[in-house]
Amino acid sequence: MTDRKSLHPATRLVHGGTLRTPFGETSEALFLTQGFIYDTAEAAEARFKGDDPGFIYARFSNPTVRMFEERMALLEGAEDARATASGMAAVTAAMMGQVKAGDHVVAAKALFGSCRYIVEDLLPRFGVDCTLVDGADLDQWRAALRPNTVTVFLESPTNPTLEIYDIAAVAEIAHAGGATLVIDNVFATPMLQSPLELGADCVIYSATKHIDGQGRCLGGVILASKAFIDKNVHNLLRQTGPSMSPFNAWVLLKGLETLGVRVAAQTAAAARVADALAELPGVTKVLYPGRPDHPQYALARRQMKGGSTLVAFEVAGGKAGAFRFANALEVIGISNNLGDAKSLVTHPATTTHQRLSQEVREGLGISEGMLRLSVGLEDVEDLIDDLRRGAAAASGGAPLARAAE
Ligand SMILES: *Cc1c(COP(=O)(O)O)cnc(C)c1O
Repeated sequence: MTDRKSLHPATRLVHGGTLRTPFGETSEALFLTQGFIYDTAEAAEARFKGDDPGFIYARFSNPTVRMFEERMALLEGAEDARATASGMAAVTAAMMGQVKAGDHVVAAKALFGSCRYIVEDLLPRFGVDCTLVDGADLDQWRAALRPNTVTVFLESPTNPTLEIYDIAAVAEIAHAGGATLVIDNVFATPMLQSPLELGADCVIYSATKHIDGQGRCLGGVILASKAFIDKNVHNLLRQTGPSMSPFNAWVLLKGLETLGVRVAAQTAAAARVADALAELPGVTKVLYPGRPDHPQYALARRQMKGGSTLVAFEVAGGKAGAFRFANALEVIGISNNLGDAKSLVTHPATTTHQRLSQEVREGLGISEGMLRLSVGLEDVEDLIDDLRRGAAAASGGAPLARAAE
């Protein structure tokens, strides 16, 4: 019953993929086992030959990890899924698994820092050329495609400026050129955006973010057609071993049960926080895909079901102003993580994006005064009061030391 296609996402999040043992446990079982015992030598032979679909070894799969994969696949509407140790393991496998020396990939310039390292630094070391484009400019995507382009990669909304790229249009361009489209859907979450429905071939998540949502463990997942997984990632993952631990799969399964309500509440709060920020003195710009003043508001409404749980904003006074703002916050923590129940703020120019040159950062719209806020599950009035404190400090001269907890 849990695999029925007619079930709504909230039901799938709670029940999807459950493998119940003969004990009939209510909560998903945590199978802390590396291996499996076969009844006979013949049974072992059949399992290795693939005649019997049972489990062999936890580097390949484990019942708790498989429950997480099945639940994610049902939620995303994907034929298949593979869990990985982290979001970056998922990105690396999805990209490396498709290419060989002599191939070419196209990616948006605005990528999560480590994703940009994969396409800009790592792939070229193995003879795979990469072209980076301004993701909002469809002509640049068209011009970048070459006969040997194998895959196209983007994230939307982007980190940290929350730009929105047209997934359906880029899918069409990629497919016309014989390439696949891979989407990093971390910022949108499976609740707010369905890239496979928009034409993408593969979706990856850092499950570390909203899917856990409570700051406990790392994880990643690759979702695609069975053919894509079999051709590109199945063997790579099995033989190289960036496997998700069963314990983390169990934590993430429990995270999925509440993903829908958390993302709905955090998105509603982010919308209110964005509106409140826009009214604060010293806040010179607010970027939130759910606000009509967002440059790609119409596109965001078309391809997303909400404005996301993140808000980016700029504070007058550059880096000093942004630091005074962050240091004055008492409820919101300073952290580079996101999607957590706890609201978190980061200064991208000096943390997540400090590896990029100032010129590249400016090209991406990451100014010295920009802060990125991940809105959590606290009472939104407390968050708005905290942001008022930040704004007052930002415009108030000397940097305040952050009060010890
Ligand atoms: C965090 C993140 C990743 C990497 O995930 P890890 O779980 O930290 O390895 C990739 N893409 C985006 C957009 C992210 O936010």
